[in-house]
Amino acid sequence: MTARQIAESVKAGKISALEIAAQALELARTEGAELNAFITLCEDEALQIAEGIDNKVKAGGYGRSLKSREKGETDKTSELAGKPGGLLAGVPVAIKDNICYTGCRTTCGSKILENYIPPYNATVVEKLLEAGAVIIGKTNMDEFAMGSSSETSYFGPVKHPLDKKRSPGGSSGGSAAAVARGIIPLALGSETGGSVRQPASFCGLYGLKPTYGAVSRYGLVAYCSSSDVIAPFARDTEDLALIYRVIAGHDEHDATITSDLDGGNVGINVKKKFKIGIPKQYFAWELSCDVSPVINLAIEALENAGHEFVDISLPLTNKAIAAHYIIAPAEASSNLARYDGVRYGLREGGDKKLKDMYLRTRTEGFGSEVKRRIMLGTYALSAGYYDMYYERACKVREMIRREFIDAFKKVDLIITPTAPTPAFRLGEKLKDPLAMYLCDVFTVPSSLAGVPAVSVPFGAIENPESKINMPVGVQFIAPHLKEASLFQISAILEQLKK
Ligand code: GLN
Repeated sequence: MTARQIAESVKAGKISALEIAAQALELARTEGAELNAFITLCEDEALQIAEGIDNKVKAGGYGRSLKSREKGETDKTSELAGKPGGLLAGVPVAIKDNICYTGCRTTCGSKILENYIPPYNATVVEKLLEAGAVIIGKTNMDEFAMGSSSETSYFGPVKHPLDKKRSPGGSSGGSAAAVARGIIPLALGSETGGSVRQPASFCGLYGLKPTYGAVSRYGLVAYCSSSDVIAPFARDTEDLALIYRVIAGHDEHDATITSDLDGGNVGINVKKKFKIGIPKQYFAWELSCDVSPVINLAIEALENAGHEFVDISLPLTNKAIAAHYIIAPAEASSNLARYDGVRYGLREGGDKKLKDMYLRTRTEGFGSEVKRRIMLGTYALSAGYYDMYYERACKVREMIRREFIDAFKKVDLIITPTAPTPAFRLGEKLKDPLAMYLCDVFTVPSSLAGVPAVSVPFGAIENPESKINMPVGVQFIAPHLKEASLFQISAILEQLKK
């Protein structure tokens, strides 16, 4: 069932939120465990919340919703159940394990936070709960969201739902695998440079990276604060738009939230015709030939449906990876300084001198990719190198941002592959960081520019070894806060696929 169907049926009293939650938890314990998609299940909280929603429906809670909403009343019948409206009433969802939820530990896929229970909820968690969603668990991920394959997790790699020898992508691989396997209809991940779009492409899902500042980061464990954004996965466009509507919007706890946001209330108009740019640099990439046939089919289908395509140029595309892999480690090295054994998580050598405690805690608590980033980032920020690396990368970022602004003077949207390849084998790139970093070549530019983008599943490529068809995603990039255009083009392509 889609999230919309579940919410409507729950509100109409046709199905029970408790039964749905119990089913999702059962699937998570069996199929989810096979894929290593979850780090922790929040069973008791989920069942309790679901029961509260059923009680609210029985008490006529959602039936009165429209009227009470008009009168501006908020719901007081049950603290746990959704507020009037219940956009996600009884919908089971999962959230990436770097989003704080007091009902569960939040590990970020790291040993250093293995037993960390946050003292407050992320704003998106509050919004999900308000809308009646039932959070069933926390999903597996690359440690501190650093990676593109979900293999750097302290809790072991996530497996692709169609082929267990392959990666579901990353860093939000657990959320993607759980939605693709049908355990839940919706999940949240986070994006810094492609961590939702790339797994969406690998797993045949719809994945949105919202505009930087459209969704509150309060309660998202920081990796690279200037690019981080919470981002959803869904199995169709309407569900994607639905969860975006729930999580987007103003939050007094996050000063980077844009004030001119319309709350993400998007109507999907599939009649609209777009002018779409094809940036030649994204198609000249040597690896993109793997997926190009599928992207070309999408272009052809859209062209036949009356959309106009024009060639554009984004010459700085090949500088984005270099800029991201300076800026992200630099900010990470600063953000991760707080894990010192004093206030958070793991403490090793607490009986030793302070310096020895720092050393042991961080040596034992962080995995090798995280350590690599901390070292690279510290170097890029150090006296004498700051101008040469960090400051220069920030200038490149600003130029990339302007390049997008200029491109959007000519076109409504930009089309590109989401990732250069379909899902790759587990272990294939783990020993070669550069090969792993290059997976993000098509997603990092829009992350640096802060503009929104969506990955829409379209077609598949047969894997010659396994003979399994592996999904391929098409990426659309839109101007600042034009998520509505992304939902429209996504719905249009979804219809053309049928
Ligand atoms: N793969 C990129 C990185 O490791 C982006 C990750 C992300 O979007 N969180 O930095």
